[in-house]
Amino acid sequence: MKNIKDYNLDKLKEEFINLGEKPFRAEQVFKWIFDANVTSFDDMTNISLELREKLKQNYSFSNFKIIKKQVASDGTKKYLFDVLDGNAIETVLMKYHHGYSICVSSQIGCKMGCKFCASTGINFVRSLTSGEIVEQLLAVQRDENIKISNVVFMGIGEPLDNYDNVVNAIRIINNPKGINIGARHISVSTSGLVPKIYDLAKENIQCTLSISLHATTDEKRSSMMPINNAYNIEELIKACKEYIKMTNRRISFEYALAKDNNDNIEDAKQLVKLLKGMICHVNLIPINKIENGSYVKSSNENIIKFRDYLNEHGIVATIRRELGSDIDAACGQLRRKNLK
Ligand code: SAH
Repeated sequence: MKNIKDYNLDKLKEEFINLGEKPFRAEQVFKWIFDANVTSFDDMTNISLELREKLKQNYSFSNFKIIKKQVASDGTKKYLFDVLDGNAIETVLMKYHHGYSICVSSQIGCKMGCKFCASTGINFVRSLTSGEIVEQLLAVQRDENIKISNVVFMGIGEPLDNYDNVVNAIRIINNPKGINIGARHISVSTSGLVPKIYDLAKENIQCTLSISLHATTDEKRSSMMPINNAYNIEELIKACKEYIKMTNRRISFEYALAKDNNDNIEDAKQLVKLLKGMICHVNLIPINKIENGSYVKSSNENIIKFRDYLNEHGIVATIRRELGSDIDAACGQLRRKNLK
């Protein structure tokens, strides 16, 4: 049975027409699910009993179960959700001065194989549906009784390897009649699936694109990220330039600093050359330790030097705050779990 949370408003209206119902009923149901955040068809009090029954017969209404919730010393919260098929994924809630930000997973496991990331390694299981992506946000809002204002697709999985569901989830999250989070408050991070970057540019969604760059030469990037063998730095940067041209949006480049690997001034120099003239921002991430990982975090001194070099040479760079690392909730530390 299809999950009712998988539908954006336009598609839900089509479904209702096929069921012989009026499209405005679809809008009412959509509001119950994504605005009121109810947990069953029975909560939809302005929908007739008869229609509720019909909906129950045709659609599931999936609410994730919280298996575990951990709170870090900085207040970051990590959820382990039962996605109701024997698998579990992690989602992270962060509080900033401007509101709550949620880091959602897009897949159960990841195929990309980045050497520094814990989300990969364990076998890939499947992609999440749009409803399952959005449910992470709904479940956290229910649990904490809050309204989330920012969404980052930076949890487990490669969002652009689950392209259709991620784009559909963004449309659902963005819809003013439902969750109503502005596209500019939604970020999609990719390891660099070049053809999908071109596709995303054509979607006419004003979300922020983040690119996991991490190195400036193909040799080094390929040693860290196997995806670079399929789409090298030149192709990636070309796609980014085209993305900026088509969307007029600034791109954010993520660069995880690892000691003696990619953190010296020579690397910063190369980075300046590579990004010169692009409307962009560099997000420096002190690399987080993962089990069996061979990369070590750069010293604070090197991280600051690296940032300052970029800023002094015309590239806006900031250091990402390390949230939740004491509960393995920081970048690259999330993993899927098997419940069976
Ligand atoms: N698959 C997507 C989404 C993951 S986003 C992507 O690769 O972009 C998570 C961000 O954290 C990415 O930039 C990723 O490269 C980075 N990351 C992964 N492992 C990390 C680690 N151990 N320390 C710091 N950043 C890491």
